[in-house]
Amino acid sequence: MSIPGADEYDVELSIPESDVERLLQVGPEDVEPAPELTFARNVFIPLTTACRYTCTYCTYYDPPGQATLMSPEEVRDVVRTGADAGCTEALFTFGDDPDERYTEIHDQLTAWGHDSIHTYLREVCEIALDEGLLPHANPGDQTRAEMAAVADVNASMGTMLETTADVQAHGGPRAKSPGQRLNTIRNAGELGVPFTTGILVGIGEDWRDRAESLLAIGDLHDRYDHVQEVIVQPVVENERWRNGSTGVETLRRAVAMARHALPPEVSVQVPPNLAPAREVLDCGVDDLGGVSPVTDDHVNPDYEWPGLRELEAIAEHGDVPLAERLPVYERYLPDGVRDGSASGGNEWVSERIVAALTADDAAGERYRAVLD
Ligand code: SF4
Repeated sequence: MSIPGADEYDVELSIPESDVERLLQVGPEDVEPAPELTFARNVFIPLTTACRYTCTYCTYYDPPGQATLMSPEEVRDVVRTGADAGCTEALFTFGDDPDERYTEIHDQLTAWGHDSIHTYLREVCEIALDEGLLPHANPGDQTRAEMAAVADVNASMGTMLETTADVQAHGGPRAKSPGQRLNTIRNAGELGVPFTTGILVGIGEDWRDRAESLLAIGDLHDRYDHVQEVIVQPVVENERWRNGSTGVETLRRAVAMARHALPPEVSVQVPPNLAPAREVLDCGVDDLGGVSPVTDDHVNPDYEWPGLRELEAIAEHGDVPLAERLPVYERYLPDGVRDGSASGGNEWVSERIVAALTADDAAGERYRAVLD
């Protein structure tokens, strides 16, 4: 199996061809529906809409001259509103290396005392913790040093693998590298960061690519035990993508393949604002991702998040209970978080995050209530 960019980033995977062939035979009839659905209450914070890439299905990025950068005050306003509304997660997103070709973003960061977006990310994660939300940053590719610089102020982190294939949708002079994405996921494993990743379905990859992508994630998880959830996200038509939305049958098979390829402790998530969640529940979905009472989904602004009532209706449709979860899955937390007696971090979460979870304040009580 040859993955573009894997040699450059020295990523070696162990994926037997027989596993790929076996996974290609898997369909919805080969997996069981999950006994429970989970979700997290979050606020979505698009720190900047600048990105060095121009993926053809993406409506998130703005070109140089139009991209924005949220100020610390704007971030504080959003996280405060989220904490007041009962959220637990501050989901920070930005495009890949946004300060690379956007001089105005670079200049603004400099004016605020930062020489990179990553040191600014650290500042806003600290604001989120101060205001009572647990940061989950999804900042595209990161070097090991960049991730290490913010790992202790994040409860978990994430980056979509999307696909191991070389697809035209990533094309152009600055194409995204699957090898670099895998390197980012590996960095998280080496640093002990609970991690969310996933695949995009319908950007030009074929079934073999989907199988290889899922097995690549599974292989890295086997090594590090750090993947908490895998998103199976269908591509949907938007103002930049006119190549069609992923069909239900395709999504059903991809979700079933994900459930089959990954060990049971790794959740399989579909985003209900982009996918017909009811129609894939029997394919092994057990998580519906983040739902926000106060912010839009800025990655896909054309598709509104369903409210909590909608998530309940989806769970009711599947005849399964719906449970709230934290942005970090409980298996990564040290003993004693539930009753507030834990002190110090562990190999997965820092002392700072454990202190927030066990604090004798409104935020700590809110986090522990979710665990109960
Ligand atoms: S999908 Fe991600 S990497 Fe691609 S252009 Fe959009 S923000 Fe950038």
